[in-house]
Amino acid sequence: MSYFVDKKGYYGEFGGAFIPEMLYPNVKELEDNYLKIMQEPSFQKEFQELLKEYVGRPTPLYFAKRLSEKYKTKIYLKREDLCHTGAHKINNTIGQILVAKKLGKTRVIAETGAGQHGVATATVCALMGIECVVYMGEIDIARQAPNVARMKMLGAKVVPALSGSRTLKDATNEAIRDWINNPINTHYIIGSVVGPHPYPDMVARFQSVISEEIKKQLLEKEQTENPDYVIACVGGGSNAAGAFYHYLDEEKVNLIAVEAAGLGIHSGESAATSILGKEGVIHGSKTLLMQSEDGQITEPYSISAGLDYPGIGPLHAHLYRSKRAEFISITDAEAMTAGLELCELEGIIPAIESAHALAVFNMKKFKESDVVVLNLSGRGDKDLDTYVKYFKL
Ligand SMILES: *Cc1c(COP(=O)(O)O)cnc(C)c1O
Repeated sequence: MSYFVDKKGYYGEFGGAFIPEMLYPNVKELEDNYLKIMQEPSFQKEFQELLKEYVGRPTPLYFAKRLSEKYKTKIYLKREDLCHTGAHKINNTIGQILVAKKLGKTRVIAETGAGQHGVATATVCALMGIECVVYMGEIDIARQAPNVARMKMLGAKVVPALSGSRTLKDATNEAIRDWINNPINTHYIIGSVVGPHPYPDMVARFQSVISEEIKKQLLEKEQTENPDYVIACVGGGSNAAGAFYHYLDEEKVNLIAVEAAGLGIHSGESAATSILGKEGVIHGSKTLLMQSEDGQITEPYSISAGLDYPGIGPLHAHLYRSKRAEFISITDAEAMTAGLELCELEGIIPAIESAHALAVFNMKKFKESDVVVLNLSGRGDKDLDTYVKYFKL
């Protein structure tokens, strides 16, 4: 069983590139070039330098003593919350902006839901002096005002998507339309391990720096590269893909993917994609997605804006089907409690996305000797309003 992408862009039965014919040349150009570019020494030099000097890598692997005492197991936090812009997303946008430059592109487009990927894209475009257009649903623009302000400060143009439910999937449709109309000068930066091949593989490779670092850091701290468990939350799946990547073939390392159950898996207000999802095609890739009987994509819900995506990346659909990873879903209430607990025990305010992963410690018992690495995907500054209102602080 392979957990890596095959020549045709599939993970087991999932993946591929289901795209309109007019998009074919754009995707083909990327597919033909991304591995070549990523292997060029000049690319690697610039990428590694920016990860170190601009993003602030390596991020610490922090032994969480008080959290470990409470749950009677050894817990390490991989501190992606300390990356520039406050989450792991910048690992990918740095990589893709360098690919765009190598392809001679002068303009970048992106879609964003909660605005975090839009901010990470606007950031690297400012860094490189490249024109940036971010598509965002009109509803999301209204509810994510601070991130809209950030993108504008960083010089991006934020274009509202006015069709359909006026959220993420409509913004994605607008971005695809733009790319079809501007195939020569424009690169489309997708923000997670989703979309047509080669995006899931390219994004996973850029995020794989997370598990590359975990291996080195754990060897120093525990005299072994391999923990017993790696835990990460899954929206589209990019931070989890990065944290799992170098462990996919280490069958002794248990992988736990955490999805948002919203108000409850069967409440009708959820984003527990693997459990509720059926096979279908979303954003150019065959995967598991939440859909009605007649195949209409269901609007997902989670208190965390970064997890309410109706699909998961094809790698994760494969990890679910093959049982290589265990999938656990966590409700809003469980995540919020776990988020507050990390503040109180460790002095770290986590993103609500990451708080879903933390809630696993209340769901599952680990052995005292287990070494558990949890990928803390982002910091909670963006979520303060939600925390304050929820706990009436
Ligand atoms: C966007 C985001 C996620 C979800 O995206 P993935 O691609 O699943 O990683 C998780 N955590 C944070 C902090 C995010 O900003």
